[in-house]
Amino acid sequence: MRFAVPTLILTILELFYPSLTLGQRTTNDWDLLIRSGTVIDGSGGLAFRADVAIQGDRIVAISEASLDPDRADRVIDATDMVVSPGFVDLHTHLDPLLRLPGSESHVRQGVTTALGGPDGGGPWPFKAHLEAVEEMSIGMNVGFLIGHNTIRRTVMGLENRAPTPSELNRMKDMVAQAMEEGAWGISTGLKYLPGTFSELEEVIALAEVAGREGGFYTSHLREEGLGLLDGVSEALEIGKRAELPIILTHHKVVGQPMWGSSTRTLAMVDSAREAGTDAMIDQYPYTASYTGIGILIPAWAMAGGNAALLTRMNDPALADSILKGIAFNIVNDRGGNDLRRVQLALVGWDRTLEGKTLHDWARREGLASTPETGARLVIEAIRRGGASAIFHAMSEEDVERIMAHPFTMIASDGRLTQPGDGHPHPRWYGTFPRVLGHYVRDRKIISIVEAVRKMTALPAERLGLNMRGQLREGWFADIVVFDPVSVADQATFEEPHQYPVGINWVLVNGEITVEEGTFRDVRAGRVLRRHLH
Ligand SMILES: [Zn+2]
Repeated sequence: MRFAVPTLILTILELFYPSLTLGQRTTNDWDLLIRSGTVIDGSGGLAFRADVAIQGDRIVAISEASLDPDRADRVIDATDMVVSPGFVDLHTHLDPLLRLPGSESHVRQGVTTALGGPDGGGPWPFKAHLEAVEEMSIGMNVGFLIGHNTIRRTVMGLENRAPTPSELNRMKDMVAQAMEEGAWGISTGLKYLPGTFSELEEVIALAEVAGREGGFYTSHLREEGLGLLDGVSEALEIGKRAELPIILTHHKVVGQPMWGSSTRTLAMVDSAREAGTDAMIDQYPYTASYTGIGILIPAWAMAGGNAALLTRMNDPALADSILKGIAFNIVNDRGGNDLRRVQLALVGWDRTLEGKTLHDWARREGLASTPETGARLVIEAIRRGGASAIFHAMSEEDVERIMAHPFTMIASDGRLTQPGDGHPHPRWYGTFPRVLGHYVRDRKIISIVEAVRKMTALPAERLGLNMRGQLREGWFADIVVFDPVSVADQATFEEPHQYPVGINWVLVNGEITVEEGTFRDVRAGRVLRRHLH
């Protein structure tokens, strides 16, 4: 009864001055009402017209009968729009997060939860990194993986050998520690240093530790070109022997000689699943990949890092076989058998080369556009400090076939970015809208319901996310409202720094982070830890 008098006064005041308390939570049942949208709830079930009410960070009502707009502080009219769960991106390069905490390039695609630490590159020390992120305040929810390359480098440097028993034990302890601190699983990048120097048994031993703690294994395969089938078998064997769920991440078929092989890789996934391995796939919707240009250099030549490579180049016999190895990869692997297919992206030592191809660079130097010339330019790029590149070496048929597989999820493999930062792969801005626009609406490769499932419930289930990834009463209000008619990516390989269109509203934990297409830097994201979220 202590509050009776003030409440009475307030009620009397409201009678005469209704505007006095308008907009305050006390006056209305809901903070927000999303009206008349087409709800696609992420589960794969049919779309239906409904109103969605939000209070605090939760969805409190999803109703096919109209809800009273007067009960909400704010109303979003979602007529002719799709209301879906926020997208969950299981392959995100979050290393710029402390510099770009708002995560605009991801949030504007509709991503509300992103998993960092892919390709073997998770943070270490793990706990301290999560705490640093938490202190920043961030624009979307994030979780992290423990990375095999990170811990191997910490324990063994860049050495090309198997770990000693004590080194292996140290790495296992690091995995166990990170899992306890909230890692969602372990990632490998077996194509990269120093993961490329590891044998199967080492990876299985570490994956087992993650699996015991309820985590999963996600792998940038050892090979995605000529050695693709072996790379897929290796990942499936790791899942089987370490007994944990796996993801073939950014699954693709690189290099003309291998085009069409996705029929075989998908059949391998299907039979592994039938035999009891919980294997899934994620994919970005483009026919070009993006990574350091050193990926064209044979792994043996990279042992010890760039300095060791350049020392080897001083030995004529070694230099000859290194250049032949690079030329081979230009013909058969990521080079796509044409210097025009290798497009320089970030070139710190000569910005005028950004966006240009190896072909353009060869011509500028007055050189013939051959694989041998390309090999010399790759070494020159490393000598000057390295460069990243976009490799146009996949076929559209493989991309579409992989996308249509029922256990393929959409993931960006994007790095947080902002206009002006180098020349990124367009997937950094466009992955999710591109699937909804290009592959769903225009190409009709998958249905819109299926696409939303691949972006929401499927990755959320793989993670084991608590009450996210579907639109359900009582679940977190991570929500996207998009226009299925206009949604589209705008970023291109030539002009990558462009935000998508048609992603009109994004809510992160109930907070409006994209409002009628405009980004609001409200930082409603949370650090999600396995078991503790
Ligand atoms: Zn990768």
